Amino acid sequence: MGSTVFFTTMATRQGNSLEHKFIRMLRKTGIEGLISPGDLVAIKVHVGEQQNLGYLNQNYARLVVEEVKKAGGKPFLTDTNTLYTGGRHNGVDHAVTALHHGYSYTTTGAPFIPADGIRGTEYTNIAVKGRHFSSVKLASGILSADKIIFLSHFKGHLEAGFGGSLKNMAMGCASIAGKMEQHSNAIPLFNEAKCTGCRQCVLVCPSGALTMKGKKASLDKEKCIGCGQCVAACNYEALTPDWGKHQEEFIERVGEYALGVYQHFADRAIYFNFATNITPDCDCWPVNEPPLVEDVGFFASTDPFALDSATLEKVNEARRMTTSRFWEKTNTNTRLFQGVYPHINDTHVFTHLSELGVHFDDYQLEKLP
Ligand code: SF4
Ligand code: SF4
Repeated sequence: MGSTVFFTTMATRQGNSLEHKFIRMLRKTGIEGLISPGDLVAIKVHVGEQQNLGYLNQNYARLVVEEVKKAGGKPFLTDTNTLYTGGRHNGVDHAVTALHHGYSYTTTGAPFIPADGIRGTEYTNIAVKGRHFSSVKLASGILSADKIIFLSHFKGHLEAGFGGSLKNMAMGCASIAGKMEQHSNAIPLFNEAKCTGCRQCVLVCPSGALTMKGKKASLDKEKCIGCGQCVAACNYEALTPDWGKHQEEFIERVGEYALGVYQHFADRAIYFNFATNITPDCDCWPVNEPPLVEDVGFFASTDPFALDSATLEKVNEARRMTTSRFWEKTNTNTRLFQGVYPHINDTHVFTHLSELGVHFDDYQLEKLP
């Protein structure tokens, strides 16, 4: 028998608000039995990029915090720093953005602690049997947690087609170097015109690929091992990721990172998808466009692969919104995200994981009131 995926719609009435529904779902997934007194419990969130207001409401995190505390656990909110510059590229900016977006101790009852250090360089290698990776670079702070609860906003994604729990686990738990190797080509791009000659990249480069030539840095691609440390260190966008790659390979890499996270936590994790405000792009963008479809509901499981698969299929059935600029493309397409991103196969991650021996197709969808 396959995994159970819990699901509830957005239909509410007095006494059965969205808060009531979410708490019911939390309890149904066995949060009480999961947490032991004294456990450090990571609540993996995405606080949204600056200027983005489409991210998940912080009150869902507050409700998880309250349940974790009731069970005797010590909750903390966490995420990892981004590969690109913006409001979450280092731990300091990230903590400030979290505050601006309501993810504070005052509002949620738990501190926000970036999991991969001030510069996104603190990671631990975790073994995985993938096609592209034999180990994945996961944020040490997340791996230190006794238990973890993922709160994932389900929406579109420019490179993966869609982003739900698997994306939140894979990219969201990786250090900057881990993000870079998923995005591979891992050798960074160097823009000499933007280089101020501050030397920070030279100081962190472990392979001697970066040296100073006069007042500018110089990158020797032959020596570069693609660790991503210099991208994290450069404050001037002179060193940036090279996003060019094959789409399917990127999706496979994301799947393998998610597998590494899943195998590390095994039965110490619960996963939630919020299929609400389903925008075409992820919350990493400094803008949020109108949603593609009407809100669908909340989903939860201890099996993130079944969870994303079930959520994706329900989202595909949802009524398209005429207010979206993708209305015409999505309204004639049975698969929502392929209307938005025709070049991306939105189920490729599941195909790849199946080929790696991950089985999740025979899940049961249990509808909650
Ligand atoms: S960290 Fe950036 S700005 Fe500083 S020397 Fe290196 S490339 Fe130039
Ligand atoms: S990616 Fe790593 S090895 Fe390559 S230049 Fe940057 S710091 Fe050096």
